[in-house]
Amino acid sequence: MAAAYDAARMRMVRNHLSARGLHDARVLAAMAQVPRERFVDPGMEEFAYEDSPLPIGEGQTISQPYIVALMLEAAEIAPGDRVLEVGTGSGYAAALMSRLARKVHTIERHASLAQQARARFAQLEYDNIDVHTGDGSRGLPAAAPFDAILVAAGAPAPPQSLQSQLAIGGRLVIPVGDEGSVQELLKIRRTGEDSFEQENLGAVMFVPLIGEQGWAEDGRRAA
Ligand code: SAM
Repeated sequence: MAAAYDAARMRMVRNHLSARGLHDARVLAAMAQVPRERFVDPGMEEFAYEDSPLPIGEGQTISQPYIVALMLEAAEIAPGDRVLEVGTGSGYAAALMSRLARKVHTIERHASLAQQARARFAQLEYDNIDVHTGDGSRGLPAAAPFDAILVAAGAPAPPQSLQSQLAIGGRLVIPVGDEGSVQELLKIRRTGEDSFEQENLGAVMFVPLIGEQGWAEDGRRAA
C-alpha cells in the first residue's frame, strides 16, 4: 500500500504541479516526500492524491495540493528560515513547511484540529513544528519576526499584525477578498520598516479567516 501511495504522490507532483508550471525544486521535493494520505480523514486516503481540497472536520478542509505548492513557492522559504502558518487545519501545509524551513509555528482556532495535527507530526517525527491554538489573525507576536507567513484562510484585508511580524525582506502569502466569493492570492514583501511590495498571484477560494483581524463568526468584517 505504501508503494502505491508513493507512486500516486510522484504522479501528483508530475501531473498537477510540474506540468502546471511550478518549478521550485525544494518545494517539489517536499511535495514528493510528505505523505498527504496521513493528513486526510480515515476512509479518504484513496482521494489523497487528487488535486482537490477534502473535508477534515469542523467544517474545514485540507487545501488543494496545487494551491499549497503555489503558496510555498511564493513564500521563497530558505533552509534557515523561521516561518508561521495561520490555519493549521490537517497539518499538511505545516508539514511541508517543516521540510523547507528551520522552524515552523502554526496556529489553528479549532483545538481539536490542532491536537490532531500535533499527533500527526509526532508520528511522522517532524520535530521542528510548534502547534498553537488561538486566533492567528493576530499573528504570534511572541515568536516574531518571521521570514515567511502563509495564511490558509481568506481575509477581508491583509492583517496589520501579520505585516508587522514580518522580518525585513519577509513574505506574507494570503488570500484576500469578500467572504463567500473568490479571493485574490496576494504576496506581500516587507521591503523596509514601513514599506511593502504587493503582487497578485491570481484567484483562489479559501474558507474564511475568523478572528480579530479577519471576519466575525457571522460573516461580517471584524471590528
Ligand atoms: N493548511 C491547512 C492544511 O494543510 O490542512 C488547511 C487549512 S483550512 C483551508 C483553513 C484553516 O484555517 C481551518 O482549519 C480554520 O479553522 C483555520 N482558521 C480560520 N480562521 C483562523 C484564525 N483566525 N486563526 C487560526 N486558524 C484559523
